[in-house]
Amino acid sequence: MSKRLYAVIGLGRFGSAVASTLVSLGQDVIGLDDNEDRVREIGELTTHALQIDATDIRALRQAGVNAADVAVISIGENIEASLLVVMQVKDLGVPHIIAKAVTPLHGRILEKLGVTRVIFPEREMAERTARSLVIPNALDYITLSSDFSIVEVTVPTKFVGQTLRSIELRARYGLTLVAIKRQVAGKEETLVSPPADQVLLEGDIVALLGKNEMLARIETIR
Ligand code: ADP
Repeated sequence: MSKRLYAVIGLGRFGSAVASTLVSLGQDVIGLDDNEDRVREIGELTTHALQIDATDIRALRQAGVNAADVAVISIGENIEASLLVVMQVKDLGVPHIIAKAVTPLHGRILEKLGVTRVIFPEREMAERTARSLVIPNALDYITLSSDFSIVEVTVPTKFVGQTLRSIELRARYGLTLVAIKRQVAGKEETLVSPPADQVLLEGDIVALLGKNEMLARIETIR
């Protein structure tokens, strides 16, 4: 994993959790907040934490935000501040900007400002929780549209030792296998669009694409 510099701006519940997770993943993190207590709480964890008003572009520059690879802007309580900070960080040339939105309108404005990714933490957590109830074994989940997703699951035992041709995923289950992740000599290899004569092995992780209602049936494959 390469090491990058992250600026986390707004150290409320979401921002501070993002900052501490990034640190635990070995990344460099600058934590910024205009609230002294928040800065103190996160201080020991991050590479450095500073108390600044992040709507002030000079203060951002002094804090070194212009050198950041990624900025995570987690200001929800004050939408105006969130938008101003996004503009300043864009002006500083930070290439990736992730911003937290608290309302759909806030999210739309952030998108119009050209942020790389808008996050609705509560909505995303609620969706993740609901999905984990329907497909408890999903290791990862990518939403493609309101109807279609890609789910990563450990290969069902029933499929182990069989070729993709003989499993007939598409005809029988309405699913398309897009990739297989497999441990080969201690290293993970990803086989993208594997051929029909590919045999599935115990421990393989398969990425399956399909309608959500079809994906929800993976659990019943035995
Ligand atoms: P959460 O819901 O994740 O706890 P909040 O949106 O309530 O997050 O927290 C926003 C954080 O952003 C607060 O810690 C607040 O002090 C900080 N903040 C708000 N405006 C600014 C600003 N202009 N500059 C720096 N930090 C700010």
